[in-house]
Amino acid sequence: LPYCVGLTGGIGSGKTTAANLFRHLGVPVYIADDEAKKLIDTDPNIRENILLHFGSESYTSQGLNRPFMAREVFSNPEKLKVLNSLTHPAVKEHFKNWITAQKALFVIKEAAILFEAGTYNDCDFVISIVAPENIRIERVQKRSDLSVEEIKSRIARQWADKQRIQLSDYVVLNDGKHSLIKQILHIYEDIIRRTNPGSRPIYH
Ligand code: ATP
Repeated sequence: LPYCVGLTGGIGSGKTTAANLFRHLGVPVYIADDEAKKLIDTDPNIRENILLHFGSESYTSQGLNRPFMAREVFSNPEKLKVLNSLTHPAVKEHFKNWITAQKALFVIKEAAILFEAGTYNDCDFVISIVAPENIRIERVQKRSDLSVEEIKSRIARQWADKQRIQLSDYVVLNDGKHSLIKQILHIYEDIIRRTNPGSRPIYH
């Protein structure tokens, strides 16, 4: 079984960009949010359970009715807990099947809520991508029409970089000044070294 390396970071930190660099190095990458969304839209068991708990409005012919569900669970932590309990086991199972099928020393699991959901506990290593808040706000503004207030409120609902750093094996500072590629290469080499003792570095 390959080692599991969790990759996380706040909104606009550069998680997806970092995950893509690992992909270019030949590392299998699992984007947890995308896979979870696909499963929730298509898995008949999840669908049945959500319909049972949240009613017929929770699905459309396209899959989960996201605006409806967002209203349901927004500011209702109990309902959010229920929703998570209905989806997490299948998502976990899907990842387990995926990683078992990978032929690699390690894989990257990119997840926005790796810490918030506690799944960092299932990872052998954790990488956090961090960046100053003003840079993250700028990045998110460029690619979405969220207001600064909305972005700040999302940041406030996630873990702070300070907390993430404490539980991470690797921290990447993606502030646009420090080379992201160099940092990722360094981590790649280090993970290879730690998971495959006796190997020689590939990059110098
Ligand atoms: P989210 O949590 O919102 O999905 P994310 O953490 O996955 O965000 P990315 O999508 O990787 O972040 O990056 C956000 C934006 O910032 C993208 O448009 C990306 O191209 C840009 N970006 C990320 N890192 C850098 C960098 N080092 N230099 C320039 N642009 C960057």
